[in-house]
Amino acid sequence: MRCEVCGRRIHGKPLRVMIEGAKLTVCSPCSRHGKIIWEEPALKPALTKNKAIAPLKIQRVKTSETKMDVSLELIEGFEAKIRHAREKLGLSHEDLGKRISEKVSVLKKVESGKMTPDNKLATKLEHALRIKLLVPASEEKLPKTKIVKPTARELTLGDLIQLDEKEKEDKTGRKSS
Ligand SMILES: [Zn+2]
Repeated sequence: MRCEVCGRRIHGKPLRVMIEGAKLTVCSPCSRHGKIIWEEPALKPALTKNKAIAPLKIQRVKTSETKMDVSLELIEGFEAKIRHAREKLGLSHEDLGKRISEKVSVLKKVESGKMTPDNKLATKLEHALRIKLLVPASEEKLPKTKIVKPTARELTLGDLIQLDEKEKEDKTGRKSS
């Protein structure tokens, strides 16, 4: 690469400078005649790379939030817990219905176990009655049902890796013996 001002071969880093309105690639002695636009060509792609990462970050946060919602489960015996908490606060079905703007019939069904409240309703009840109704799915219900049939459960990635490693061990074991 040659300097566009003096025509000499550029040793080391070529510099991009603005001289009298023209963008030129010059050697470092000639760069003093103009205004340096950039020094390292690597800097530019790095900046655009950072900008591209930003929207991805936001997406990741969103997916983790939805995951959390899905993994929440109602505690067992939620109907009794709701009724007890409501009675403790001295609230009738009507009172509670007004507080959380929910139909009395819905509350009665929930308390009798005929209806399972969705996460939205459960959260409203949690706040109004100051109780805990939603728990992460892994904590309460899920392990019980999973342990009943350990062989029938779906394989996780971790299981697959372990199986793979076991297989390798078996094979090498067989070879040596
Ligand atoms: Zn030069």
